[in-house]
Amino acid sequence: MTSGGDRRDELAAGLRDVHRRIAAAAARVGRDPADITLVVVTKTYPATDVLLLAELGVRDIGENRHPESRDKAAAVSTSLGDDAEPLRWHFVGGLQTNKAAAVADYADLVHSVDRTRLVAALARGASRRGRIVRCLVQVDLDPEGPRPGRSGATPANVPALADLIAAESALQLGGVMAVAPLDSHPRVAFERLLAVANRMREEHPGATDISAGMSGDLEAAIEVGATHVRVGRAVLGERPPLG
Ligand SMILES: *Cc1c(COP(=O)(O)O)cnc(C)c1O
Repeated sequence: MTSGGDRRDELAAGLRDVHRRIAAAAARVGRDPADITLVVVTKTYPATDVLLLAELGVRDIGENRHPESRDKAAAVSTSLGDDAEPLRWHFVGGLQTNKAAAVADYADLVHSVDRTRLVAALARGASRRGRIVRCLVQVDLDPEGPRPGRSGATPANVPALADLIAAESALQLGGVMAVAPLDSHPRVAFERLLAVANRMREEHPGATDISAGMSGDLEAAIEVGATHVRVGRAVLGERPPLG
């Protein structure tokens, strides 16, 4: 175990490095780095790391599993107290229908809406808390079409899903999200995502978010137009393998 001070230094160094990468990629395509939100994905890491990140100025935290995400958000909110600027919680993982309403209790953005049944459940969870949850449609960018076990709506199914989200008063249609398929060139995949995003924005002008890019491919995502990058390992270090 490293002590708190050492861990803070590690996280600060990781953040500096990622901010430099974001700035360099943005500069290459003439974008303002301030238009790119860094979501630090803290899955598998403890709430104490989230608190250190908050001290270091991070406002957007990503998590991928309920109920771990709920417990961490609750612990962090208690430690920060009422006077601190609240963090924004992004749920980025695969979502089970029977957990969607509970995720809408604390998530400010859900990046992984990929099927119609999730929409009603999220809306129910958000409205019973009087909250508005911003939802992104996760798109499957696999050119071979959907494969078993992969998440994401096919590009053809995105418009109907977007309309359904936009029709819910407790939800706000935010845009699109994707993970580059492992065996494809990320830039080619992200260009497909951009086409889906542009088509969505014609119908829904407020759907401006493009969530793409992780530790390994954030440059390609920013060069193609990502507004949100979701970065875990490059800030926090390699995760222990899931048991
Ligand atoms: C874990 C995860 C990330 C972050 O991945 P890193 O490779 O650690 O940067 C981003 N998006 C999703 C959906 C994830 O599950």
